Amino acid sequence: MPRIEILCVGNELLIGKTVNTNARWLSEMIHNLGCVTARHTVVGDDVECIAGAVKEALKRRVDLLVICGGLGPTYDDKTLEGVAKALRRRLEVNQEALTQIEAKYRELFDQGVLQRFELTAASVKMATLPSKSTPLRNPIGTAPAVMLEYKSCRIFCLPGVPSELEAIFVESVAPFIKKLVGDLSVAEGWLDVRGLPESSLATILENVAAKYEDVYVKSLPRGFEGSEPKLEIYVSALRDSKFAAESLVEEVISLLTACIGEAGGSVERKYVET
Ligand code: ATP
Ligand code: MG
Repeated sequence: MPRIEILCVGNELLIGKTVNTNARWLSEMIHNLGCVTARHTVVGDDVECIAGAVKEALKRRVDLLVICGGLGPTYDDKTLEGVAKALRRRLEVNQEALTQIEAKYRELFDQGVLQRFELTAASVKMATLPSKSTPLRNPIGTAPAVMLEYKSCRIFCLPGVPSELEAIFVESVAPFIKKLVGDLSVAEGWLDVRGLPESSLATILENVAAKYEDVYVKSLPRGFEGSEPKLEIYVSALRDSKFAAESLVEEVISLLTACIGEAGGSVERKYVET
């Protein structure tokens, strides 16, 4: 499995003002594409911290590093400066990025959103990228995303605004991940369990996990209904075909259902839209 990591940048994440929904969304998408994200890292808007986090990821020999946040025109957007420092590359105005930003401003001017059509210092900042970068079209916002290659690692820098990040991921990052993971496919299954406390379920889960080492089985306590404990069990597996992954998940779900029944709990299959 390729090693994929996510690096989120933003002081607002570290002081709890913004919930890191981007890391969750990216990880879920990466999982749907057949891979498990190896690590999430969050750092503040600080060039040294960003550069340090990138260098550490490279030392762990990541195949793909997805960085999010800090691409905009404001003073606290320092992601590309940090990346340039980590890769020892110069920052330079990228002509293709400038053209993309110019086209976006012209569109906004034509729509009457902008009063004047001019390239400001902010536009030039958004087009200032580490050398050997490829700017990626931002179908929603202004700041282009950025792709870089460094040895065997591919780096994508995406904007922090969730709608922009999601659109660029789908258009430009997902196809790359699909190629990287090859034929791996994911399958998932859920069970609703009642009448068994998590402590009683522990042995059952341990036995199942030992038998199926590469299947992910997780119990999630869901409170009580009266005095009856409620739990959800999540099962997922990666295999080199969708059919093989689904068959394996079904096998594990059947075994869990039988064991929980024997232990006196009640089980219901739950279907979740993904
Ligand atoms: P902008 O051009 O708007 O400055 P940017 O790429 O510089 O975009 P940030 O400044 O880091 O991105 O974040 C912009 C907004 O996106 C934040 O105010 C926040 O609402 C949202 N955001 C940033 N990071 C995340 C995250 N990890 N999860 C969810 N939302 C985020
Ligand atoms: Mg910003």
